[in-house]
Amino acid sequence: MRKPIIAGNWKMNNDVNETEALMNTLLPLVADAKAEVVFCPTYLGLQKAVEMAKNSNVGIGAQNMHFEKSGAFTGEISGEMLVAVGVTYVIIGHSERRQLFNETDEAVNKKAIKALSLGLIPIVCCGETLEERESGQAEAKVVRQMELGLKNIDDITKVVVAYEPIWAIGTGKTASKEEADEACGWVRATIAKLYGEDAAQKVRIQYGGSVNPGNVKELMAMKNIDGALVGGAAIKASFAEIVKF
Ligand code: PEP
Repeated sequence: MRKPIIAGNWKMNNDVNETEALMNTLLPLVADAKAEVVFCPTYLGLQKAVEMAKNSNVGIGAQNMHFEKSGAFTGEISGEMLVAVGVTYVIIGHSERRQLFNETDEAVNKKAIKALSLGLIPIVCCGETLEERESGQAEAKVVRQMELGLKNIDDITKVVVAYEPIWAIGTGKTASKEEADEACGWVRATIAKLYGEDAAQKVRIQYGGSVNPGNVKELMAMKNIDGALVGGAAIKASFAEIVKF
């Protein structure tokens, strides 16, 4: 039985004071959630968020990390630095990182391996563009991202995958529950090919892309969908309704 996991990706929103205010709003509202709950504020909000989430049911995640420990990587933050402030999850290979910051499948793989070695739970993202979906390339894209991004992983069952079709992110256009489930099935089948069916059955796969309180329930009812990665709707009080689908 896979425990549902709902994560909020706050993206580049909320300064430290706003992070504190949003934590104050959300923590009591999600306290009785049955799903695993994760908030991912900006790097600057992480320390405050970790302090505030202590003794709560909420885990704190970063939105990215570098795979090296330290050194001449201006502007980057290492996994070790995340662990040092008590972060326990990290989003890896979000489509905005891939598209806007040229993140490759190879970098995603290095980051996932490094995160796991530090005890961080990586939320590894994949998903196709509208053009790829419309030209029948969606499955090939997702399979390739998973084959390259998830190779040489010691314990795949600790990894969370987020299938996020790029055309559904921040657009208000959600994939149908059948489309989302089918694509999460491609992810699971690829993991089964790499690591065996038993391991694949243990991996939690989230859907992401304009999830909101009105559509979360039907998505969560699908057999391959074990959670949601939520952007825009994650920084509102109504995120609690998503978490308690
Ligand atoms: C995301 O950024 O991961 C995301 C799914 O965004 P939104 O929910 O706003 O589509």
